[in-house]
Amino acid sequence: MIVPVRCMSCGKPIAQYWKALQENPKNLSVKEMFDEFGLERFCCRAQLLGHVDLIDVAAKFKRA
Ligand SMILES: [Zn+2]
Repeated sequence: MIVPVRCMSCGKPIAQYWKALQENPKNLSVKEMFDEFGLERFCCRAQLLGHVDLIDVAAKFKRA
């Protein structure tokens, strides 16, 4: 669905990194981007790695 605002495990705010992670302006690897963001814990990294943005798909089935 929508990217989690905070890490569900530790509570660190992570949603602000989602757009940069998708756009990847400096053409870095995912690991390098996580290091640049300062995301050290594997729980936060896993939240962003495992996320699939399905909000547009789910929105088609919204009640009118
Ligand atoms: Zn975390």
